[in-house]
Amino acid sequence: MNLKSKLPSVGTTIFTVMSKLAADVGAINLSQGFPDFDCDPALVDAVTRHMREGRNQYAPMQGVPALRQAIADKFAALYGAPYDPETEVTVTSGGTEAIFDAVAAVVHPGDEVIVFEPCYDSYVPAIEVSGGTAIVVSLRYPDYAVPWAEVRAAVTPRTRMIMLNSPHNPAAVILGADDIAELTRLVEGTGITILSDEVYEHIIFDGARHESMARSEALRARSFIVGSFGKTYHVTGWKVGYVVAPAALTTEFRKVHQFVTFSTNTPIQHALAEFLSEKRGYPELSAFYQRKRDLFLTLLAGSRWKPLPSRGTYFQLLDYSAITNERDMDFALRLTKEHGVASIPTSAFLYRQPPPPVLRFCFAKRDETLEVAADRIRRL
Ligand code: GLN
Repeated sequence: MNLKSKLPSVGTTIFTVMSKLAADVGAINLSQGFPDFDCDPALVDAVTRHMREGRNQYAPMQGVPALRQAIADKFAALYGAPYDPETEVTVTSGGTEAIFDAVAAVVHPGDEVIVFEPCYDSYVPAIEVSGGTAIVVSLRYPDYAVPWAEVRAAVTPRTRMIMLNSPHNPAAVILGADDIAELTRLVEGTGITILSDEVYEHIIFDGARHESMARSEALRARSFIVGSFGKTYHVTGWKVGYVVAPAALTTEFRKVHQFVTFSTNTPIQHALAEFLSEKRGYPELSAFYQRKRDLFLTLLAGSRWKPLPSRGTYFQLLDYSAITNERDMDFALRLTKEHGVASIPTSAFLYRQPPPPVLRFCFAKRDETLEVAADRIRRL
């Protein structure tokens, strides 16, 4: 059968490719972003308790009320943002579903969506499946700053959405107050919506402040803000995330969400509602990961790997130009097969720019894992 692909240039995601290769060759997997340590056992106990108590049928399409309330309370407490849990908070089966639904809800054929590369690999396919066109603006290497003059030049009457991600995967940079001021001026008086991927909001380093779109009344009025419990509670395999957005945007969002997954795992939502309402886990997460970042960097100090600043997320970019002039994908494959450490090449997130000589390493790992991994690559 001659099927015309809707995503002709898309293959299998780099995360699946690299995690499989790591497993096949027995390499330490610092590629796909997930912890190799367990979550709080009390969280597993809570899920089990809710299962035993019979909370095993469909959750409400919008999400379990207690979890939506806890999400709204968190936004009020951290960012001073008043979201109504009834009409403005939706629980999703992970951040990726949330991003897909938000794009599908507002992007019409012929619309343009501005994205910044390196760009998380699900964004552009989500735009293209909806018939939209991704307008790619390159973050400036090596500081990955947003070139606001270029963004302004990229806006047209067809611009439907701008997608932002802070803390940023894979660059590990964060938006600052200046960026928020630029963005605010840019969208003022337009019908442009914002999709703000803030799934690493609780992993931000060196005392920096997370510049959530929710902090600004003007920006949150046009924003879908995406969050993730996988990153915050060390449970990426549970695939639970959420979207907060003003009621008019949430109404359209839910029209899509209800036909993509309908609803999300019930007992897990109840357990997360307990943890979140008790403010567990996230207040200490930045310090927890900052220590791991610093350990990883200490272990590589004095080597030919040159770290770029990691200001948030659990990723570290390392410049390898003193080691080899191979392309990033080739080097990532060789590093996995010959040296037993898997990473992610940023070319998987690039559309226009030639790939710079950097690889992304995930440091959400036990100290022993980081020690063995660093030992394997330190002398290259
Ligand atoms: N967000 C994870 C990463 O960047 C990957 C998630 C996935 O594989 N879908 O590594």
